Amino acid sequence: MEGEAVSGAQLIAQALKAQNIEYMFGIVGIPVTEIAIAAQAVGIKYVGMRNEQAACYAASAVGYLTGRPGVCLVVSGPGFLHTLGGMANATINCWPLIVIGGSSDRNQETMGAFQEFPQAVRTSMYGRPGSCYIDIPGDFVNLQVNKSSVKYMECCLPPPISMAEHSAVSKAASVIVLSKQPLLIIGKGAAYSHAENNIRKLVDLCGLPFLPTPMAKGVVPDNHPNCVAAARSTALQHADVIILLGARLNWILHFGLPPRYQRDVKVIQIDICAEELGNNVRPAATLLGDIDAVTEQLLEELKKRSWKYPSNSEWWQKLRGKIKNNEERSKGLALQKSLPMNYYTVFHHIRDLIPKDCILVSEGANTMDIGRTMLPNFYPRQRLDAGTFGTMGVGLGFAIAAAMVARDHSPGRRVVCIEGDSAFGFSGMEVETICRYNLPILIIVVNNNGIYTGLDANSWEQMLKFGDPVTCVPPVSLLPNAHYEKIMSAFGGKGYFVKTPEELQNALKASVTDEQTPSLINVMIDPQSERKKQEFPWLTRSNL
Ligand code: ADP
Ligand code: MG
Repeated sequence: MEGEAVSGAQLIAQALKAQNIEYMFGIVGIPVTEIAIAAQAVGIKYVGMRNEQAACYAASAVGYLTGRPGVCLVVSGPGFLHTLGGMANATINCWPLIVIGGSSDRNQETMGAFQEFPQAVRTSMYGRPGSCYIDIPGDFVNLQVNKSSVKYMECCLPPPISMAEHSAVSKAASVIVLSKQPLLIIGKGAAYSHAENNIRKLVDLCGLPFLPTPMAKGVVPDNHPNCVAAARSTALQHADVIILLGARLNWILHFGLPPRYQRDVKVIQIDICAEELGNNVRPAATLLGDIDAVTEQLLEELKKRSWKYPSNSEWWQKLRGKIKNNEERSKGLALQKSLPMNYYTVFHHIRDLIPKDCILVSEGANTMDIGRTMLPNFYPRQRLDAGTFGTMGVGLGFAIAAAMVARDHSPGRRVVCIEGDSAFGFSGMEVETICRYNLPILIIVVNNNGIYTGLDANSWEQMLKFGDPVTCVPPVSLLPNAHYEKIMSAFGGKGYFVKTPEELQNALKASVTDEQTPSLINVMIDPQSERKKQEFPWLTRSNL
């Protein structure tokens, strides 16, 4: 061939680089190994993971954290199939993601679809973000073409910013100024769109009570006086006007329907996705557009009317009373001295000792639910959890992605990954990945020997007397006293097995001080430890 040659793999790598792709996660094999090597050669950071599913979760978290899609690289067949969990999770979460899979070789004529790259990048980022898949023919990877015949597409532009119709903004403002019991709900779409400054202004200027959804915690700091998270049910149930900023009225928000809401609650919905507007409730106003831009429009309109919600209203009194009550109940549980510890005691100590600006990754049923209420977030996009799909097994992939992004974009920021013992099991071998790349992640496994609840060692022994374990081990049970911390020490990280508050405090202090070494604290809690009684008991089994 005349002139300098470039391989298919190099083309792919260069095309991705041209789209400002920074991170690739995957597992190599025929035919994609060369793509990973070529990606590293052009300066894309490649993280080799242990399961494609975790790799895909990691790549999607990069998309959420940076606003540009991460790439997940896999082989065809089973490799690709393992990414489906990650692709579904990213799509449902509205996070940009590109999965590249290698398929079998094909005829040369069917190749050369490289314009598809920028199109894929745009598809993942524009409008409502989500995942997309690119299938690379195997023989393309090692095919050589003349370098001079290749034209890379320029990096696609950032997503265009759309604003809401003026009449809709003014209608929304009219509804807001007449509200008696307003509530601002902030969703992870608001976090993703970096709307924190304008939303903060809206809260401060208008004196609105606000409630973050789980991953929107920190868009406005949880310790802001207007945060009513500790009175969540009351706030939802009695609000007469709700401003919904980048959150869907799905199961996380109880569908926007009674008995969790007033039947005639007026919802002002702000979303980038037109299809979302009017889902489940008939909104009082719909503002189609980018959250940051639309919040600014709304601010302007409310400024004109110089409206501020009075801080001495009955609504505020009711909310404040509820907040105080709920906080006292949690405090009571947190200070219980009995052993084994309960969830509240564990989170109480974690809250005291982890850095305020750490990125929190969390999954598990009770571990995630209770952790969400007990662990505050002070900065946006610093909480990653099972999300809209309630996916368990995302934690370690998310933690790896967060540690990579933190290392490059906010050095010194720690990642703390708090896992239920069941959730940890889904991708526990990624601890090897964490140690291989020496990512100083702190994993805390809140271990209750099971899924929801488990058995203590004595009950386990007793139970086994009844015969064949497969006939008598409760389906929710996992092996009691499993030493998950040894997975960490097996790969050179630090493992701690703790049973008392003192041991927990010491392990936390040691792990937080050591900023170089990955560590895992396996915290044994009461296997029957339950959450606080809920007002709506039929909903307590949700992953919320
Ligand atoms: P949560 O889980 O916090 O309730 P959801 O994932 O249900 O949040 O909702 C997020 C919403 O945000 C989605 O409907 C999505 O279309 C929307 N969204 C994402 N990015 C933007 C943006 N830049 N501007 C407006 N809406 C956005
Ligand atoms: Mg458990």
